[in-house]
Amino acid sequence: MDRTYFINKIKELKEEKRAVILAHYYVDGLVQDVADFVGDSLELARKAREVEGEIILFCGVYFMAETAKILNPDRKVLIPYYKAGCLMADMVIAEEVEEFRKENPEYAVVTYVNSSADVKAVSDICCTSANAVKVVESVRAEKVLFLPDKNLGSYVAEKVQGKEILCWEGYCPVHQKLTVEEAERVRKKYPDAVFVVHPECRKEVRDMADFIGSTSQIVKFVKETDARKVIVGTEKGTIHWLRKLRPDVEFIPAYSEFTCDQMKMITPERVLKALEREQFEVEVDLKVAGKARRAIEKMLEV
Ligand code: SF4
Repeated sequence: MDRTYFINKIKELKEEKRAVILAHYYVDGLVQDVADFVGDSLELARKAREVEGEIILFCGVYFMAETAKILNPDRKVLIPYYKAGCLMADMVIAEEVEEFRKENPEYAVVTYVNSSADVKAVSDICCTSANAVKVVESVRAEKVLFLPDKNLGSYVAEKVQGKEILCWEGYCPVHQKLTVEEAERVRKKYPDAVFVVHPECRKEVRDMADFIGSTSQIVKFVKETDARKVIVGTEKGTIHWLRKLRPDVEFIPAYSEFTCDQMKMITPERVLKALEREQFEVEVDLKVAGKARRAIEKMLEV
């Protein structure tokens, strides 16, 4: 699609419909360029509560748009493509969590926001990769079930003292694909580069990194770094944003296909259609939304 046409058309539609566009760092660069706000899950969850406008067009995967709807029950929340899901979020269902809770009442359930509204609704509190350590530290229980990401869970377990943390067997296939061999290869090729990774990466890969942080923490790190080359151990879409922020730095994806196909389903064409037709509206069952909201708001308080 022609860039200028797309940008102008979106601008026009946003004004006409009083719409705001929130976009995740992992979506297409052109979509990021027309967004009112670009961020990671935590930043977007916060923004979703603060932004004005009659329509929120959420450019990310489904659970993110659902979170925006849960926090804005009275507003119209749209997602450009409702089939854009999160493979990690699908690795746990609410029934399994309920069963676990019945059998293990001494555990607090801490759920990464990369999960469905149903799962959030049966959790004690949510967290993101940016605040997971703080959230787990904040719960009173000594035993914590962390779900669905075992990699983020193991990262939290390394940082939190005095709690027993049980990790669910879920993971992000996109971050999991970064193996030690790949990381060694890229480090060898760019020996003078700084290596930053997301905590959704495997522990062995995290152990090789110079910096570990959520996408927003990586953005902050890059803003301030003296390094001239950075190997990016998270989804490639982030590099679009990082290049705008630091045109003087060379960014290298940790492996060439570091791409979330689900996020890439949010194409400029679908974003445009979504605004023109006001599709696809995100709905969350009121009872589920109420319970999930409690878990998300508890997180935002932390
Ligand atoms: S990158 Fe991984 S965790 Fe993020 S949306 Fe894609 S599948 Fe889900």
